Amino acid sequence: MTTRPDVIIVGAGIVGAACAYYLSRSGMRVTVLDAGFAGGGTTAAGMGHIVVMDDSEAQFALTSWSQQLLDDILPGLPPSAEFERCGTLWVAEDEPQLESARAKLLFYGSRGVHAELLDAGGLARAEPMLRPGLAGGLRVPRDGVVYPPAVARWLLDEATRAGATLREGVAVDAVHGRSVTTPAGRLEAGAVVNATGAAASKFTPGLPIVPRKGHLVITDRAPGFCRHQVVELGYLQSAHTMDAASVAFNVQPRTTGQLLLGSSRELAGWDPSVNRAVLSRMLARAASFMPGLARLPAIRTWTGFRPATPDKLPLIGAWPDVEGLWIAAGHEGLGITTALGTGSLIADLIAGKAPGIDPAPFAPGRAATAVH
Ligand SMILES: Cc1cc2nc3c(=O)[nH]c(=O)nc-3n(C[C@H](O)[C@H](O)[C@H](O)COP(=O)(O)OP(=O)(O)OC[C@H]3O[C@@H](n4cnc5c(N)ncnc54)[C@H](O)[C@@H]3O)c2cc1C
Repeated sequence: MTTRPDVIIVGAGIVGAACAYYLSRSGMRVTVLDAGFAGGGTTAAGMGHIVVMDDSEAQFALTSWSQQLLDDILPGLPPSAEFERCGTLWVAEDEPQLESARAKLLFYGSRGVHAELLDAGGLARAEPMLRPGLAGGLRVPRDGVVYPPAVARWLLDEATRAGATLREGVAVDAVHGRSVTTPAGRLEAGAVVNATGAAASKFTPGLPIVPRKGHLVITDRAPGFCRHQVVELGYLQSAHTMDAASVAFNVQPRTTGQLLLGSSRELAGWDPSVNRAVLSRMLARAASFMPGLARLPAIRTWTGFRPATPDKLPLIGAWPDVEGLWIAAGHEGLGITTALGTGSLIADLIAGKAPGIDPAPFAPGRAATAVH
């Protein structure tokens, strides 16, 4: 006889997996459903950069707290999670960008995040493959990198050890307050969490989440080519522009010695095809910062869909119009970083406990107000 779960989570990406981890550890009976396999959606397409961000106080709170939660689970993570504390190196092309690096330094410093401002010489010493003539940069040593699908799988393994049930290959047709409809019938629960990432608005009309396509390229092995996740400060502008396709220089060293190159952002619906024009711009941008990249063979290119929201913050909490329905979606380009904070918030809110950070800025109701 199967017992009715306390919570059904729809979506076993890294966000749904983190919700399952914290909910099951708090003693709830959890069932996780995924149309494909765990971590096979956007989670498998992402870069895995764990980065503390400073766009807003809310974003800082969620990213920095999630990084602390990652520190808590690090001892248990398997080698396949490929965690490396490589740090982020934000690159300033010119004096105005160096000024924004100084502002970042102040923001982080006043909130206890260690960062170091580098002049042109310091930048060149930190990453010798960068082109000469850059103005400087900001190094944030505690940032890191993971392999996202392996982290998602581990979170689900831990959840199942704590009693959760994972059902892969179950495509949910409809999400209700205390039940979901599947091709095999209706499943009931005390609560339902919509954690379907970029697809979340298909199941909860009114959610302002749209797929925002991104390309990544992985190169052949080039051990030691670079040491940090190296990102241009102009990346922030690219991340904030919602209308046109934008590209920014972003390179990440993997434990295999390969390099992961990004990034692009494009509103192209659900078309997964490689956009050669955008890809060429992205690679040209990368080579303009690190000319040696142009000589490395690219072995694979792919696309993925960031779940984007209009105000750049995820939707985490109760959906006001439907009793028993919770949302954990809309993490755009930061879902790997912020999954743990999201899972912890959802678990505490469902259990009626005081959450680790203020959940108000993430309340899905702000979206409901916007669309009604
Ligand atoms: C190119 C790129 C680079 C990125 N780089 C980074 C980075 O460096 N750092 C970072 O923090 N973030 C990064 N991100 C963002 C990050 O990958 C996402 O925010 C995150 O993966 C979202 O996770 P999710 O669990 O919400 O969604 P998903 O991983 O998409 O999971 C949703 C799940 O829902 C399931 N689902 C959908 N429909 C149904 C249905 N009908 N029934 C059942 N299940 C269903 C899917 O199968 C899927 O497994 C990047 C994203 C992209 C595209």
